[in-house]
Amino acid sequence: LAKESRNTYRFYSDIASRKNLEDIRLQYDLQHALSGGQLSIYYQPKYDVKSHHIVGSEALLRWNHPELGMISPARFIPLAEDSGLINEIGEWILESVCDQIAAWQQNGIYHCVSVNLSVRQFQNGNLVDVVRNALQASEIKTNLLELEITESIAMDIDKVLGTLIELNRLGVIISIDDFGTGYSSLSYLSKLPVHKLKIDRSFIRDLMSDQSDAAIVSTIVSLAHNMQLKVIAEGVESEEQLKMLDNYRCDEVQGYYFSKPLPLSEFELMLEPANKY
Ligand code: C2E
Ligand code: CA
Ligand code: CA
Ligand code: CA
Repeated sequence: LAKESRNTYRFYSDIASRKNLEDIRLQYDLQHALSGGQLSIYYQPKYDVKSHHIVGSEALLRWNHPELGMISPARFIPLAEDSGLINEIGEWILESVCDQIAAWQQNGIYHCVSVNLSVRQFQNGNLVDVVRNALQASEIKTNLLELEITESIAMDIDKVLGTLIELNRLGVIISIDDFGTGYSSLSYLSKLPVHKLKIDRSFIRDLMSDQSDAAIVSTIVSLAHNMQLKVIAEGVESEEQLKMLDNYRCDEVQGYYFSKPLPLSEFELMLEPANKY
């Protein structure tokens, strides 16, 4: 190796091993995060585009690490998937969310919450049992639980169709998350029992300036409605984006413009009697 490329190699391998060490540490610490009460659930409200009423929320994991502080799920979910711990964490969030929905339901608030599913939960084989048990234990109306599966999971029809059909029979709502990022044929959509598409944030970000993003968003809304599906846009940060999505007949929005994800105590303050029915 020439001197320069040797140095370059050393440089990259140092970075790689340092990152690896942090991964290993986080993966180790994560084993105790759940039992140690370090994981919590934040709720981000979803709004009707026209009325601006809250129509549901998304449950998002947070890890408050004792030494490192708040760690993003984008950082630790892949580690939990890698170690298999995601199944335990996924079961905990499903049970916790169903119990929370039940508590609201007892106060006459019928609030729908969506939970993100990992591909590992589909591979594990007991997902349907986990969801059924959470629904039965909490005695919630089943359509108050929504499951978000990413487009990349949904595209793998052969692996997920059977499970989705069973989940659909339980009466939960199923939505396709990060929709539009898969660059795939759309044929899988007509085969799956799904109710909603969630347009990926990457198409909303430059909605006002990028004509092809605007065309894609408008096309996804039409596609969804032609298939009798609801459509929600994530990552809505401005009034202009909201207006444009209203023009495109998008049904629901979620994003910092209305609210970031909030801890339960703050989120509950937003569930006013207007949301009771
Ligand atoms: P996601 O499912 O696509 O969730 C949306 C992410 O966008 C969230 O990041 C949310 O906080 C963020 N967000 C919401 N509104 C806006 C906005 O207006 N602008 C911007 N820039 N961002 C916005 P978060 O909470 O960090 O979650 C990241 C990802 O981690 C999620 O992406 C999801 O894939 C995963 N995740 C979170 N909770 C869970 C969980 O319980 N289970 C599984 N399997 N994955 C989860
Ligand atoms: Ca999601
Ligand atoms: Ca998403
Ligand atoms: Ca995403």
